[in-house]
Amino acid sequence: MAFTENCAGPFEGGRMHGAEGGALKLRRIAEEIKECRKCGLAVSRTNTVPGEGNAENPDVMFIGEGPGADEDTSGRPFVGRAGQLLTKMISAMGYSREDVFIANIVKCRPPNNRVPDSGEMVLCMPWLFEQISAVRPKCIVALGATALKGLTGRESVSITRERGVWTEFRGIPMLPTFHPSYLLRAPLAKKEAWEDLKSVLRFLGRPIPDNSGRVKSNMR
Ligand code: SF4
Repeated sequence: MAFTENCAGPFEGGRMHGAEGGALKLRRIAEEIKECRKCGLAVSRTNTVPGEGNAENPDVMFIGEGPGADEDTSGRPFVGRAGQLLTKMISAMGYSREDVFIANIVKCRPPNNRVPDSGEMVLCMPWLFEQISAVRPKCIVALGATALKGLTGRESVSITRERGVWTEFRGIPMLPTFHPSYLLRAPLAKKEAWEDLKSVLRFLGRPIPDNSGRVKSNMR
C-alpha cells in the first residue's frame, strides 16, 4: 500500500537550503559520537548512526528510535524498509531527504532491534540535544513512542492518543506521529500519519497536497 493511499496529494519537488555553520557542528558531533562508549550498545555496534540531512535550520527534523540492521551496516539513518517508507512520507510532503534532518534517540543499534532501555536513552540523548541545537529545526516530528518518551522524558506515553497533538521540545514545536515501522505493520494507520504530516505542512505554511492520486504511483 502506498504511503498516501486514500489520502494522497501531488508530488512537489524538494528544496535545498544552505548548510554551513550547522553542518560543521554536525560533523564534529558525528566524530565524537563515533568514539562514544558511554553505554553498552557500543559493544555490538558495527557503525554509529548519528543522523543526516539539512543541518541549517530545516523545516523539519524527524526523530526515530534507533538504528536497525541496515542502518548499523551503512552508518546512515532510516535506510531499511521503514526508512524507505519514511522517504516516501517526506516526498509526499514535498521535500527530499536532503531538505530535512533525520536522527534517532540512540545512535547505536540495540541487539536484535530491541527497544533501547531508559538508561541507554538517558546516556545517548545529550548527543541528540547537541544536534537539535546545531540544526535548529523549525519543528520536530517525533516518530513513535520511544522518540516521544525520550524527548518528553516521560516513562509512559501513548502514541495512539498523543499523535497529532502539538507540543514542544525546548521551545521547538513538536508533533508526534507513528513510526514508519509501525505503519508497515498497520498500513491502515498511514491515513492518520498523513493527517499528522499535513498538520506539519500547515504549521510551516507549506501547500497541502490534494487528493489527485498522483503520489500513489510514486509511492509503492
Ligand atoms: S548508543 Fe549513544 S551513548 Fe550508547 S555508545 Fe552509542 S552513541 Fe554512546
